[in-house]
Amino acid sequence: MYEALLKNLQSRGITLVAVSKTHPVERILELYQRGQRDFGENRVQELLEKAPHLPADIRWHLIGHLQTNKVRYIAPFIHMIHSVDSLRLLAEIEKQAAKSGRTIDCLLQFHIAEEESKFGLSEDEADVLLQSQEYHTMRHVRICGVMGMATFTDNTDQVRAEFRHLRCIFERLRTTYFAGAPHFREISMGMSSDWEIAVEEGSTIVRIGSLIFGPRS
Ligand SMILES: *Cc1c(COP(=O)(O)O)cnc(C)c1O
Repeated sequence: MYEALLKNLQSRGITLVAVSKTHPVERILELYQRGQRDFGENRVQELLEKAPHLPADIRWHLIGHLQTNKVRYIAPFIHMIHSVDSLRLLAEIEKQAAKSGRTIDCLLQFHIAEEESKFGLSEDEADVLLQSQEYHTMRHVRICGVMGMATFTDNTDQVRAEFRHLRCIFERLRTTYFAGAPHFREISMGMSSDWEIAVEEGSTIVRIGSLIFGPRS
């Protein structure tokens, strides 16, 4: 499964983030030895427990909701934070990245699903963030694109419409705020159940767990 998936995605220039949450370091190492370098975790605590036991050239992606008081623990090593959903959080990432002497790549997470419970910005909130004076003073964060999760449903038309919406948001932000900024190029969308639709709708990063690792207990 993994090799076929990787080949398929690589041929289209799409990054595969292997979502390793709940799976032990042995399973991660196994995949690492097959060449995988991008791994995603959704909880800081779990990431901090695993990362020290694994090779240092793994690119760790934080894909779940991030509390401001936990940023400091991941700032020294995190490769990309997919779940930026407030100016307050971005400001904390800026502060901790500066302390580490790093620039941290971030994605703005948007609420595109029907479900109430999912985190993420509205478009209005993103505009306020990107127009704020505080954002414009930041030198240690780099907003590279957007992230979103579709509704968990069998209705593929709905899933497709939600991914298409995220792509539209991405295009609008790019022309409005990131013209001449080639690093603003990522659309993180698609999981085990919907990655094919996401790819058809323009995804550049897919976050896939159970399809690679099997079901989570
Ligand atoms: C768990 C998770 C995934 C991967 O889910 P699978 O269905 O196992 O592929 C992707 N994105 C986020 C934000 C997740 O929490």
